[in-house]
Amino acid sequence: MEKQIFDYIVVGAGSAGSVLANRLSSDGKYRVLVLEAGRESHPWSRIPIGFAKLIENSAANWLYSSEPDEGTGQRRIPIPRGKLLGGSSSINGMVFVRGQSHDYDSWAQLGNRGWSYREVLPIFRDMESYQGDASDEYRGRGGPLKVTESNESGAIYDALIKAAGEVGIAYTKDYNGAVQDGIGMTQTTIRGGRRMSTAVCYLDPARRRPNLTIQANALTECLLIESKRCIGVRYNVNGQPHEARANREVVVSAGSINSPQLLELSGIGQPELLKSVGIEVRHELKGVGENLRDHYSPRMKWTVPLSLGMTYNDKARGLGLCWQALKYVLTHKGCLACRRRRSVLMFAPAPGWMRRTLRSRGFRSWSARILSWRKIPASSRS
Ligand SMILES: Cc1cc2nc3c(=O)[nH]c(=O)nc-3n(C[C@H](O)[C@H](O)[C@H](O)COP(=O)(O)OP(=O)(O)OC[C@H]3O[C@@H](n4cnc5c(N)ncnc54)[C@H](O)[C@@H]3O)c2cc1C
Repeated sequence: MEKQIFDYIVVGAGSAGSVLANRLSSDGKYRVLVLEAGRESHPWSRIPIGFAKLIENSAANWLYSSEPDEGTGQRRIPIPRGKLLGGSSSINGMVFVRGQSHDYDSWAQLGNRGWSYREVLPIFRDMESYQGDASDEYRGRGGPLKVTESNESGAIYDALIKAAGEVGIAYTKDYNGAVQDGIGMTQTTIRGGRRMSTAVCYLDPARRRPNLTIQANALTECLLIESKRCIGVRYNVNGQPHEARANREVVVSAGSINSPQLLELSGIGQPELLKSVGIEVRHELKGVGENLRDHYSPRMKWTVPLSLGMTYNDKARGLGLCWQALKYVLTHKGCLACRRRRSVLMFAPAPGWMRRTLRSRGFRSWSARILSWRKIPASSRS
């Protein structure tokens, strides 16, 4: 079996792994190996509209699903996860949201040093190169991640923003700036009509560094542990086993599902569980594989009156699709250069606000105020 020696080994070239690979190899001092289980790329991962083509595509997606339970009416809920360079950033919805400042502050208050909003803000600024009208106090202009303000406009957006104002949700120009609450146009990791995954923004610029090795189609099967210290990994490329040693550190950045799975396969986790499936316990760590939190993404379809203009679906139907494809090839603009949905984002002013508003005004009257749309069956026009 071939054995290689590096300073750092990064398992998983997703959002986190690609950034680490770039940063750890930047000064040329350390030899860095990045192992990615998925492929190098996928044609649909470069085109924003390709989101829809990858959401159920095993070529670039692990296609996990939840176990049926009471809360989901015994249904299995799909849990997509990217499986290619860039990881989930190569298949995700491209919406750029930093998160609530008070979430960071509460993590810091719980004892996580360095996580207050004041401390993470400079990192957010350095990370991005924002193309949009915003305050430099909050936004960065020269970082590797390209973020773009939506330049879409039209009656449909005006109507949504106006209706939100009527129920007390103010317009916010930059929800990643001083005030997140409100309604505003979506900011995206799209530039020049192309998806700005971490593979594009962090791996591509670092590819030629002689001290960085990027290995796709390499499934890490277990961490090598010697006297409670992780010294390397065993991985598999096209059925061939390999071993790599790390003089300094092994970084496990295989995502929220595969990282704990890899720890467990390596004997790190809950002893009873590991023993029950025949895995030798190397280190007891009760939290491994527990407390995953994810959000639901329910989709609703509505008819849109023609008075509010043409929807993407109208524009990309029949011959329209040919025109849109041609437009994309020639100008990198049009429907194929956009996210498929959600050009407007709304953040409720306070926890419970949405529930209270819907309860006091009634969902139908609230939604009727928004656009007078009519809910339609899933198979129809949206
Ligand atoms: C469909 C979808 C839509 C989303 N939309 C948005 C959005 O609009 N905005 C937003 O901010 N966030 C969105 N997210 C979430 C966001 O993309 C993720 O939170 C983020 O990419 C996770 O980064 P990560 O580094 O933890 O994992 P990932 O980016 O998933 O990277 C993990 C990588 O590790 C690899 N890997 C796994 N196991 C192994 C192994 N054993 N050996 C080697 N490699 C391995 C995987 O193939 C993958 O490439 C979305 C996610 C999905 C899936």
